[in-house]
Amino acid sequence: MDIGIIGGGASGMILASKLNKHNVTILEKNNKLGKKLLLTGNGKCNFTNMDFNNLDYIYNCKFAKTIFKRYDNYSFIEYLNSLGIVSKVETHKNIDYVYPNNNKSTSIYYALYDKIINNKINIEYNSNVINIIKKNNKFFVYTIDNKNYEFDILIFAFGGSTYAKTGSDGSCFSIVKKLGLTVNDVLPGLTPLKYKIDNIDVNKINFTGFRVDAYVSIKDKDNNVLSEYGEIQFTKENVSGIPILNLSSKLARIQSSYKNDIDIIFDFSCNLVNSVNVSNKSSYFNLSYEEKNNKVINILKLRRNLIPYKKIDDFLCGYLPDELNLIITSLLNLKNKKVSDLTDDDLINISNLIISFKIKIIKQNNYENAQISVGGIDTNEFYENSLEAKKIKGLYAIGEALDIDGICGGYNLQMCYSSASVVSNHILNMEG
Ligand SMILES: Cc1cc2nc3c(=O)[nH]c(=O)nc-3n(C[C@H](O)[C@H](O)[C@H](O)COP(=O)(O)OP(=O)(O)OC[C@H]3O[C@@H](n4cnc5c(N)ncnc54)[C@H](O)[C@@H]3O)c2cc1C
Repeated sequence: MDIGIIGGGASGMILASKLNKHNVTILEKNNKLGKKLLLTGNGKCNFTNMDFNNLDYIYNCKFAKTIFKRYDNYSFIEYLNSLGIVSKVETHKNIDYVYPNNNKSTSIYYALYDKIINNKINIEYNSNVINIIKKNNKFFVYTIDNKNYEFDILIFAFGGSTYAKTGSDGSCFSIVKKLGLTVNDVLPGLTPLKYKIDNIDVNKINFTGFRVDAYVSIKDKDNNVLSEYGEIQFTKENVSGIPILNLSSKLARIQSSYKNDIDIIFDFSCNLVNSVNVSNKSSYFNLSYEEKNNKVINILKLRRNLIPYKKIDDFLCGYLPDELNLIITSLLNLKNKKVSDLTDDDLINISNLIISFKIKIIKQNNYENAQISVGGIDTNEFYENSLEAKKIKGLYAIGEALDIDGICGGYNLQMCYSSASVVSNHILNMEG
């Protein structure tokens, strides 16, 4: 049986590493496999996560759940272990990220690559697939350099359409449509967002960038609040950090329902209220606005008594980054005051900004910097237990090409593993 895999990224490599009994060919448009895999987790490769209790962090979670249940995070860790990779868990803000013990994506790359070579998989580099025809139970695959290939089974592992320099430019989605399958809108996800702040020109404020913890929320068109907690990074143009990247994927799906710029609200008060730590953050954030406001105003009053002689820019120093303090005092026109000059009304205004700081998202679509695509091949047209297309026998899809995506934290590479394992298991069982 001749098997073709289109795309030698994370999912294609995992699949090929598991197929050791067939005549398998990877058609890869680059001159190297796994270019994006090598970039993951800042080169450390955060390949999965220990939190699998609540799979709502996966879009299309109903479909994804059946796949994840069969091949979960432990299964991925064990599989990599069988290829010689030792894993470690790194906990940050109560989230358990899993990495290779040596912090190197290259070790995962070579674990898979060496197994692929050991499996005697044929790798056709520089093979950009431009057309596919199915005739008489065979798939005829054509590449840009006028070569053609014939397969009994074909697997789409060509990824999404972001970070095009790694090869995944979305060009295959039009081929998928020509074959009669549905492709849901493909948009950038897990991406920094361009922003502005009303009534202030951040270019006039002296900062290059800063990081701050916050609880971040947006409202969808039905007024449901979508929120995230964690470290935010501001530059003059972009806002990013894991909570923003996660919200960007949600925004991509609902953005067409917004007519105007989208507001994001930050609650920075966790940086002031000492009793807040990661373990009780949810109980803190569930407090009403008034309860939080009372806590913050009390802290501000104490501080006004403590350091009345300080310049206004230093009022919140130690609690919030200097650059954010500058933005807050500029927004409230407090620049020429001293701490002792702050009135109770000033403190109320400062508290309001700390608990409910608003920015406007002016541009969301950044394909170049997006870590994943949301959207992709519609999973309704595939069997959950095999990932074979219902309409086209012998055709399968795995990884980011499918309309399934996860938040930051290793869930997307886990999806590559889980989906590739479903397909490899199905193929290996076909011949008994
Ligand atoms: C900077 C960055 C950091 C990331 N960090 C993480 C992380 O730490 N943890 C995590 O879980 N996820 C992370 N991700 C997301 C993760 O890398 C992807 O979800 C994953 O690589 C998707 O794998 P894939 O095999 O589906 O697609 P890809 O890895 O994109 O592979 C697709 C392959 O198909 C090839 N291809 C495309 N079109 C054609 C064609 N027409 N003909 C032939 N070949 C073709 C491409 O060249 C490519 O090699 C990160 C992404 C980026 C960009």
